Amino acid sequence: MLHIILFGPPGSGKGTQAERLIEKYNLFHISTGDLFRSEINQQTELGLRAKEFMDKGILVPDEITVGMLKNKVESSVDVKGFIYDGFPRTIPQAEALDKMLSSKNQSISALLALHVDDDEIVRRILNRGKNSGRSDDLDESIIRKRMDEYRLKTSTVYNYYDSKGKSIKIEGIGTIDEISNRINQNIEGLIC
Ligand code: AMP
Repeated sequence: MLHIILFGPPGSGKGTQAERLIEKYNLFHISTGDLFRSEINQQTELGLRAKEFMDKGILVPDEITVGMLKNKVESSVDVKGFIYDGFPRTIPQAEALDKMLSSKNQSISALLALHVDDDEIVRRILNRGKNSGRSDDLDESIIRKRMDEYRLKTSTVYNYYDSKGKSIKIEGIGTIDEISNRINQNIEGLIC
């Protein structure tokens, strides 16, 4: 079973590329950001707790995030594999994911890291904010905070999987098709 982490800073195109991958490879997409937003819309207790952090552009604590992720994986039966989008974002999250998978005799297939420079990220997110309805996409200081969180807490997850020989860098600049093609080439390599 494929377990692919789509990795990169906010605005690097993970969501867009994940949509392509679920169609092409019939994978199940788990975006922790989307899960939190759905909890917020339903005004659940988990959603209300997560919102406090999300509105400030900082990460939701690991125990909340990991619990939610595990529930989603456990309840997804009959799937060919998973794309994790926006998860793991810390080393403890990566360790929890590995532990859960190893208890099922499975493991992460690859971490595909999209590389996009900071100015392009801010430009893309502000542009997305016009239609996304996401308050954290509208304020440049919150966007910069999210980028700081990425640098401080998340970027090291790349090294964690790199030390296991699983991290792959993907140039995240170009047309959506060009970037998809780069991703697909790497996934084909995993399937063969
Ligand atoms: P995203 O939709 O991936 O950009 O996530 C939006 C916000 O949700 C982030 O800025 C975090 O506050 C929160 N979030 C999403 N995924 C995680 C995660 N794996 N760990 C902690 N916080 C997360």
